[in-house]
Amino acid sequence: MQPIIKVEHLDVIYFLGKSNEVRALSDINIEIYPEEFIIFFGPSGCGKSTLLYSIAGLETNIHGNIFIEDKNLALFDKKETLQLHRKTIGMIFQAFHLIPTLTVQKNVVLPQILTNANKKERTAKALELLEYFGVKAQAHKLPAELSGGQQQRVAIARSLINDPSILMADEPVGNLDSKSAQDVMDLLKNLNEKQKKTIILVTHNPAFLSYAHRVFYIKDGKIVETRVNSNVHGVSVPQAESVKHTISRDIELLINTFSSLSPNQIGNLLIPFKAKQIVSEALIGMTTEEVEKIEKKVENLLLTGIYDNESTFEFLDQGPDKGGVDMDKRTARKIADKIKDIVGEIKTLEAEENKVKMRISPDSGGEVMQVRHYLLDEFDIEIKNFITLEIINQAIKDRLTNVIDRDVFRKRLSLPVKRGGAGLNKRTAKKMAKRLELLILGKYK
Ligand code: ADP
Ligand code: MG
Repeated sequence: MQPIIKVEHLDVIYFLGKSNEVRALSDINIEIYPEEFIIFFGPSGCGKSTLLYSIAGLETNIHGNIFIEDKNLALFDKKETLQLHRKTIGMIFQAFHLIPTLTVQKNVVLPQILTNANKKERTAKALELLEYFGVKAQAHKLPAELSGGQQQRVAIARSLINDPSILMADEPVGNLDSKSAQDVMDLLKNLNEKQKKTIILVTHNPAFLSYAHRVFYIKDGKIVETRVNSNVHGVSVPQAESVKHTISRDIELLINTFSSLSPNQIGNLLIPFKAKQIVSEALIGMTTEEVEKIEKKVENLLLTGIYDNESTFEFLDQGPDKGGVDMDKRTARKIADKIKDIVGEIKTLEAEENKVKMRISPDSGGEVMQVRHYLLDEFDIEIKNFITLEIINQAIKDRLTNVIDRDVFRKRLSLPVKRGGAGLNKRTAKKMAKRLELLILGKYK
């Protein structure tokens, strides 16, 4: 499967070399595949629009390469650029950009006037689209007579009149109330699923992220993370809100389902799943074979519990003759780092699993109780809930026996009750953790 859009080492710099130089994008590398629904997400000013317009061929301060359907944008002549905007890409904007003095129908037809389609065909096509979007009755009205949601539907109809394969939308629902916003998003989803349009959408609203197959998180002009909700091309990826949440939800589920198993057994059951999750973060553009190879490697890493960043990097970077995957160095480095982060997260989660185990066999030793009384008295906290007291006992016991470190101890105190913590406020938890460290120092020095 060839990407429909490929961005390589893209920098966009405004006022280059001047004192007011703005680096809007730095080293952006992405591949977008046909029929994907992609979201660029990030805070205001992070560079989302700049990236979208760069891909649309509307940005001039570009360094790096952008390929649309395998053709280098930089080499497009005037005619090809026109074709790109007439045929390949449809644009939708936050502000609709309808022409106020033209009727809805004429607005929709507008992009066709420059093509060869005859008038009758154009009109029929426009009406068909307006009907599809539920605004046919408004065809002869002026845009101002329509609601915001209706105007955006008209704008989407207009963007589709030349039947482009790619739809680009910059905050298309940013001006709409939440009901209309959702309607328009559903419409775009439908266009993606039914009419196989590739959609690239910019938003700063996290509520819409689940619409996308993949989300690129942008911060300070860089892509800082890619989230894969599902992969439209072959390799199936579990629906994931984010890797971290999915893993912990699954652990929770497994713990509840297999309460007779030890945390270790549960951990082992989870390993193939975890490996898949980690790899799914990074598999875009790889063959199934490569993906499986990496999954196996990650699975082994998780099994042995020894994580060695360099060896993962080498494995990813080296050629198949050496048992590797032959990735380019930058990608290999990125994935190795990503794997490291996620393995770290898993370690934290495993500590949580242990906590569940502890709860089953609570300690009743006098020392733990003493320390608990001391800490709670010291910070003037009264806890009546038995389970919460047990959780604090366990945390103290684990810290005294050095099963957990200070940070985990603090976390256990501050985590909400429903997530298995003691639900103390963060500052108190921090102070208690510090006090306990002092106690330990005083005792064991
Ligand atoms: P977003 O769409 O994520 O809100 P933009 O892509 O519009 O962000 O802008 C990214 C950065 O580039 C911002 O700091 C913005 O001020 C700057 N920028 C965007 N366009 C221009 C321009 N034409 N000239 C100078 N700076 C610009
Ligand atoms: Mg913007």
